Amino acid sequence: MKISHIEHIGIAVKSLEEAIPFYEQKLGFTCYAIEEVAEQKVKTAFFQVGETKIELLESTDPEGPIGKFIEKKGEGVHHIAFAVGDGLQLALDELGAKGIQLIDKAPRKGAEGLNIAFLHPKSTLGVLTELCSK
Ligand code: ZN
Repeated sequence: MKISHIEHIGIAVKSLEEAIPFYEQKLGFTCYAIEEVAEQKVKTAFFQVGETKIELLESTDPEGPIGKFIEKKGEGVHHIAFAVGDGLQLALDELGAKGIQLIDKAPRKGAEGLNIAFLHPKSTLGVLTELCSK
């Protein structure tokens, strides 16, 4: 497995409408996409920062993963996502063999058409970690 860069950082927000102006007007980024991922019960907004993106996540359902996260911890950094090239299944198999607990044993579709999979924060020192490939 070879991780090439941080693909994005996922940040849970209560409201995209309130959060986007902070990133655009205060930090000077441009939101280039807003996309709903129904399966994850989120609406996402993306900003490009060098090779990395900021992915804002607004819950569309209080029972969804982001809804629960915000209720427990409030707004803030939710996960970090690493790009692994095109060998996502191999990377998952390799990490599984190394004893890392996988939330997704096989890749699934995430925002922007990427193949994604999450590693369990119990195995990653408390950081919810996502791997993605094109
Ligand atoms: Zn993500």
